[in-house]
Amino acid sequence: MASESELGIKPVTSSELDQHIMRVLRNRVGKDERAAKQHDWYRAAIYALRDEIIDAWFKSTRRTYDAGGKRVYYLSMEFLIGRLLRDALSNMGLTREMEKALAAHGLDLAELEEMEPDAALGNGGLGRLAACFMESLATLDIPAYGYGIRYVNGMFRQRIEDGWQVELPETWLAHGNPWEFERVESTYLIGFGGEVVAHGDGVVWDPAEKVEATAVDTPVVGWKGKRVNTLRLWTANPVDPLKLDAFNAGDHLGALSEQMRAESLVRVLYPADSSAAGQELRLRQEYFFTAASIQDIVRRHVQYAGDVRTLHEKAAIQLNDTHPSVAVAELMRQLVDVHGLEFSEAWEVCKKTISYTNHTLLPEALETWPLPLFERLLPRHMQIIYAINSRVLREARKTGCTDAQIAAISLIDESGERRVRMANLAFVGAHSVNGVAALHTELMKETVFADLHALYPTRINNKTNGVTPRRWLQQCNPGLTEVIKDAIGPAFLDDAARLSDLQAMAEDAALGERIDEVKRANKVALAEHIRRTMGIRLDPGALFDVQIKRIHEYKRQLLNLIETVALYDQIRSHPERDWVPRVKIFGGKAAPSYHNAKLIIKLANDIARRVNSDPSVGGLLKVVYVPNYNVSYAERIIPAADLSEQISTAGMEASGTGNMKFALNGALTIGTLDGANVEIKERVGDDNIVIFGLTAEEVAAKRAGEYNPRELIEQSRELSQALSAIASGVFSPDDPNRYHSLINGIYENDWFMCAADFDAYAAAQREVDDRWENKAGWRASMIRNIANVGWFSSDRTIGEYAKEIWKVL
Ligand SMILES: *Cc1c(COP(=O)(O)O)cnc(C)c1O
Repeated sequence: MASESELGIKPVTSSELDQHIMRVLRNRVGKDERAAKQHDWYRAAIYALRDEIIDAWFKSTRRTYDAGGKRVYYLSMEFLIGRLLRDALSNMGLTREMEKALAAHGLDLAELEEMEPDAALGNGGLGRLAACFMESLATLDIPAYGYGIRYVNGMFRQRIEDGWQVELPETWLAHGNPWEFERVESTYLIGFGGEVVAHGDGVVWDPAEKVEATAVDTPVVGWKGKRVNTLRLWTANPVDPLKLDAFNAGDHLGALSEQMRAESLVRVLYPADSSAAGQELRLRQEYFFTAASIQDIVRRHVQYAGDVRTLHEKAAIQLNDTHPSVAVAELMRQLVDVHGLEFSEAWEVCKKTISYTNHTLLPEALETWPLPLFERLLPRHMQIIYAINSRVLREARKTGCTDAQIAAISLIDESGERRVRMANLAFVGAHSVNGVAALHTELMKETVFADLHALYPTRINNKTNGVTPRRWLQQCNPGLTEVIKDAIGPAFLDDAARLSDLQAMAEDAALGERIDEVKRANKVALAEHIRRTMGIRLDPGALFDVQIKRIHEYKRQLLNLIETVALYDQIRSHPERDWVPRVKIFGGKAAPSYHNAKLIIKLANDIARRVNSDPSVGGLLKVVYVPNYNVSYAERIIPAADLSEQISTAGMEASGTGNMKFALNGALTIGTLDGANVEIKERVGDDNIVIFGLTAEEVAAKRAGEYNPRELIEQSRELSQALSAIASGVFSPDDPNRYHSLINGIYENDWFMCAADFDAYAAAQREVDDRWENKAGWRASMIRNIANVGWFSSDRTIGEYAKEIWKVL
């Protein structure tokens, strides 16, 4: 069926699309059918599809202007988009038409889709959330702009060499990007450094350096082409690209360095997840894209509404974590210095316009900047932050705050070298501060923001994360989508909550069998891909046990690996038992400077080499480390997973979204009571998830009290044997001490509670085995997972933001 757009776009037939592709191939790609290579067809197909999208895009934009409505602006340092071709085709309702049009030329759409590089402008969950949100905003017909940076090199490409991670630059723009449009008319000057000078009865900032920010737009299509919004990414150029005077004066180097300084702003994405980067270039990147976005927002408002004082009536600005929180100071500067508002009036407009999402409680991830650096780079913003701080602290004193409370609330950390606290700046400058899962939001109130919460008790609220069911069910798992459609009809495609219609059919044997067949087919396809790319053979009949996510100690890939070693031991010592065949699949990138995370990757590969080549396990256990985990790989692996590993130390994973994708595709979760796992458990029911381990409260109590991991380890034979094997070099005979310090960390301190949770985890894994042996029970659990996680659609999440924070629905 062709697109039945509510914008009145006429449906396109496959022969019209074919003619369109041929026209584009000739006129834009510059090839005829005989000379065209695969890549030429790929470009022609995207250009032709893009033309269809552009009509809907213009209509969406015009409709917003005509209605004079409020727009949502989502500011995010990261957008982990992945590929767009399948997504755009599917949402435009043109997949079949494109397949047919290409088949007429002997081309396979799936092959062309594989040619598209992943747009990997993000590290992990935070960036992927922003991408899911953009799709849901368009689907819910909310006028919205995403604002970020057009990184020339996104997330690095990971290779595994001799078991070690090697980072290579990702050159996703090497062959051009057919989705984007450069908007040279939307260019803004961004300043750095210099000084603040008196001007009339106010002041102005006279920056020492300037660069130009130019918009590059990508259309974002919602489900059924209902609306097309804009993802606006900024690129940087020197103010005068030719610098003719410098060249004429013979200062070639000076001109060149200006060019390089501008380019460096958009050169790379910082590859650290869950830790603050701290370098000057990072602060420059944050200010660069935030200032360009704020100028663009204010410019649009003044152009269409006239009066900057009504900004909050027409604009809702959401800050995705603290990376864009300098927006608070920049908006104040625009309102006060440029548009002449009184400070108090500007402050009210600012708070009503801005809202902030917190993503982590990890202390190492909370952004702070040394005050001298901040002041040197952004002298006027520093003054504004002081002014805001004195207002806030005055308010706090009036309510009777103690000195300790004042010190915690202050925008300046005075405890050591003075630093600017970006989370506190975002908190005070916003009318809404939200966490990303119920547990995380409660912990925010009790920990990082306890004193700010006491001062502003209605500001913190929860918006549990979600994922778009278009990409994470329909597009990545068409087989399952068809089976569900046959079972309950197509209503769930428009409203994922309708998946609950499956609940009554959980015990239906025929449905269970069909869902199992689809899972099997997905596992065969993944096994074939792994055989082809890695040369490892997997048994699709085995339980596929998957942990794919960034490598981080709090996510506890190490706990999974220790249990893998213990299982390996057990299988060898008890060959007579009926072991459930398992394939342990790991994937994920480590920050290049994160030593222990990189060591954990090496350990996974060392264990894999030993286990996979040991004939005595008889194929009952296989371990695979898939290289270069990214969005496209996730779309391939998740539909093929039986078991989803969500085993973070309780209290440390803010939400997780991988957990939601797996459940939506019928995997059972083995997990701790952390992040959104808590809410997944509430929805799927205790019998359809395997929960183990310490609670967040128990972890906190252990850390505060006298926790003795060594004693615990000595009491657990399985654990002490597994740890000794790893520490003594059983898996690293070439370097027996390789894992000594990693394992010693567990004996000495065990901050992440691997020892404390090991026995419960191992027992939970054997419970998974038992459940797996009961085929009918497992299938019913798969159905109950799928039926009950429609709530984790990002449409539901965005609906809540829209009603409760942005007031646009
Ligand atoms: C969903 C997703 C994540 C987030 O996974 P978590 O398990 O929630 O950490 C990270 N990377 C990619 C590529 C994803 O698709």
